[in-house]
Amino acid sequence: MISRLHDPDYNRWACQIKRTGGCRQPIHLRGKVEHWDQATGHLLHRYSTNTEPNGVLRVSCKTRRASRCPACAEVYRADTYQLVRAGLVGGKGVPETVNSHPCLFVTLTAPSFGVVHARREKNGKVLPCHARRDAETCPHGRTMSCTNRHGADDPCLGEPLCPDCYDYDGSVLFNAISPELWRRFTLALRRRFARLNGLTVKALREHVSIAFAKVAEYQRRGVVHFHAVIRLDGLDGPGTPPPMWATADTLVQAVQHAAAAVTAEVKPLSRVFRWGTQLDSRQITMDGDLTDQAVAAYIAKYATKAAECVGTLDRRIQPLDDLKALPVREHARRLIAACMNLGTQPALAELRLIHWAHMLGFRGHFSTKSRRYSTTLGALRAAREEHMRTEEITTGRLPLFEEDTVLVVAHWEYAGQGLSLGEQLLAAAITGVRLPQMVGDPQ
Ligand SMILES: [Zn+2]
Ligand SMILES: [Zn+2]
Ligand SMILES: [Zn+2]
Repeated sequence: MISRLHDPDYNRWACQIKRTGGCRQPIHLRGKVEHWDQATGHLLHRYSTNTEPNGVLRVSCKTRRASRCPACAEVYRADTYQLVRAGLVGGKGVPETVNSHPCLFVTLTAPSFGVVHARREKNGKVLPCHARRDAETCPHGRTMSCTNRHGADDPCLGEPLCPDCYDYDGSVLFNAISPELWRRFTLALRRRFARLNGLTVKALREHVSIAFAKVAEYQRRGVVHFHAVIRLDGLDGPGTPPPMWATADTLVQAVQHAAAAVTAEVKPLSRVFRWGTQLDSRQITMDGDLTDQAVAAYIAKYATKAAECVGTLDRRIQPLDDLKALPVREHARRLIAACMNLGTQPALAELRLIHWAHMLGFRGHFSTKSRRYSTTLGALRAAREEHMRTEEITTGRLPLFEEDTVLVVAHWEYAGQGLSLGEQLLAAAITGVRLPQMVGDPQ
């Protein structure tokens, strides 16, 4: 910390850190950008990291995981919120009339892989977890009943009553195949919606397009479920209204049918998976029970959470890692072990279970949307970078050129990542973000 403070380049370093917005693990880049005039061949401007502190430029890591970098995850969450919101009420290039299109909020759940401890509430009272008067005893001698009224932060929530009966393989295979199940759901939904309107899929496409935005959320038991916004548009996407006959009621019927009908098979094991029976689909309105604001906030909240909220790790697990030594609860350890074990089967290679063991088998994207749902994260990022560029031009740091007459030659290489402990303290002071847990911190 002292050497950084005394460094003659301190001000420039502090400026870089400020630009990363409090990123906990900035990426160090070494390289240069040159602007050449295409007509005359003159070099107009050159930027090189040679003149930067330690010869590197520090840029934010842009992770979406709050456990790795709260500052960047917050940017990601805010962008996701804007993206989902634009698809509901317009903005960011999406016309406001989109708010009159029929739109649903749908939750697709995973099936059961065994009885787990759960907190149930009714009229504000906590009910017994899984009380059974004539509870059967499982083959491992455990009584399949739990009369506890679990607290909201009880660590056993989501864990099985009998771990030896629990279908760990099924749980991780479901996670692995859930993106395919989702894909089939969207196809089946289109087919059913067309049929309910007396059309073929091809004919439907000439009148209606169906737009999706979804996020995956881990349940305590370690399986993913999906929350999705499903919207009806006219032929040309969000800018055109769907025909009058394309109603939310018909869309609900199509969702219910498709969710119950689709399956996905892990062929080498002859295991067929389908969605759980709990299906929730509700219409999103501007002012009803389920408002567009609430939905956008809800979806964005899950975009920055990964499997670590189940109590697993936020890093890849290596085949040589000692699973017994991982700092996780037994339930997560067994889910990870199921991935590592199934992952060794050559027939299951394409599921890449070892690679995704820390995600409990799920390798899909956390938030995805169909092309026409709204704007894109890339567009939001570009807009932000453009804003920063404008700032650099107005502050004189970057000259202004006609974009199409200038050739930009850039060369960048990765030169490391992160901040030293002393730098973390300085960065926190500069950007005003909370410090990560330090060595010697009381837990
Ligand atoms: Zn970051
Ligand atoms: Zn219980
Ligand atoms: Zn058992």
